[in-house]
Amino acid sequence: MAMALLPNKGLGAVKMSGDDAMQSQNSISPVYMDYNASAPLREKALDAMIEALHGFGNASSIHRFGRERRALIEGAREKVAKLVGAEKANVVFTSGGTEANNLALANREGRALFVSAIEHPSILAPAERSGATFIPVNREGIVDLDVLRNGLRSLSRPAMVSVMAANNETGAIQPVRELARLCHEAEALFHCDATQMIGRLPFHLMEDEIDLLTLSSHKIGGPQGMGALVARRDDMILEPQILGGGQERSRRSGTENVAAIVGFGVAAYEAAKEIAEGSSQKTIAALRDRLESGLEKILGVHLFSKNAPRLFNTSAFALEGASASILVAALDLAGFAISAGSACSSGKVRPSHVIKAMGYEPSLSAAAIRVSLGTRNTKEEIDGFLAAFASLAKKRGANLDAA
Ligand code: PMP
Repeated sequence: MAMALLPNKGLGAVKMSGDDAMQSQNSISPVYMDYNASAPLREKALDAMIEALHGFGNASSIHRFGRERRALIEGAREKVAKLVGAEKANVVFTSGGTEANNLALANREGRALFVSAIEHPSILAPAERSGATFIPVNREGIVDLDVLRNGLRSLSRPAMVSVMAANNETGAIQPVRELARLCHEAEALFHCDATQMIGRLPFHLMEDEIDLLTLSSHKIGGPQGMGALVARRDDMILEPQILGGGQERSRRSGTENVAAIVGFGVAAYEAAKEIAEGSSQKTIAALRDRLESGLEKILGVHLFSKNAPRLFNTSAFALEGASASILVAALDLAGFAISAGSACSSGKVRPSHVIKAMGYEPSLSAAAIRVSLGTRNTKEEIDGFLAAFASLAKKRGANLDAA
């Protein structure tokens, strides 16, 4: 029986060694190590959302109740804009990163589309439908700029290019500034899904010359079901996907989810503060390094994107010959919540398209798992995880020997 995971509370330290790690799930507190899937809601965001939920009125109404709601939305818009170095007026709130990505691609105005092979499904699915060209990545998971350059040169019509800032599975950071320059030299639009990068490392839409930028609130400790598409200029989101009352300056209709927008704003503000202080990045990076040096001692472990610039909280790896879904389930029973390389919305585990695109054989792409850490993780939890993982690897080895 799988245990309930409590991402907000009860993330207590786990001390385990060897087979202890595999003992009864009731004796341990679950440990959340899946921040790239969704980060725990920040307390301050929760408080602000509760207050906003107590209020009422429609932000489009001109009476005082409406004006109060409008002020909450605009305050949050300002905070989100600040986090990414954008003009406040060019932030369009959406229902999340998925909608923002779809909205971005819908605004390519007949341009030829290029996307990297390691994008999130919310880019890959609409891209496949539009007959996009896929830009390959190297063994470390970094896009091949020469292929893109040649592809753009060979075109006789304008293009749009969509490449993410940091990959959700491996954490590999893409050369965003070079990509933007290359696109602009070829007069192509550049969209960047920065869902996993924002709130972790400094990011500046204007300085990086990004035309369209996707954000997701729940990856930075805001509520789920909230995100934004941010434009560099006012005239870049002219083709709405949701038509109606003309909210969000006609970019995205529908009565605004004020509480979620407020929570997103607070999370953006807190994330910007954390980035400026830099201390939590260092702590999390040290935990990730501790994890990886432990993993490297376990026979049959392969770390992905080890030599690429990477998000400091993410580690993607495989145990040779193992199945990702079995490992994820076994680790869950041992008290550790992690992801298969590409757990999809239905909870099914498929071989990772990211690891496959990096040129690995199917057995490794089917075995890829991901640990993504955050502010609540501790050294003890890392050690507990390593003990549990080593024990699983040993059992697997014993099974192989017996076979
Ligand atoms: N892009 C990336 C890189 C992601 O990791 C995710 C979330 N898994 C999304 C887009 C989709 O964001 P949301 O969950 O807000 O729809």
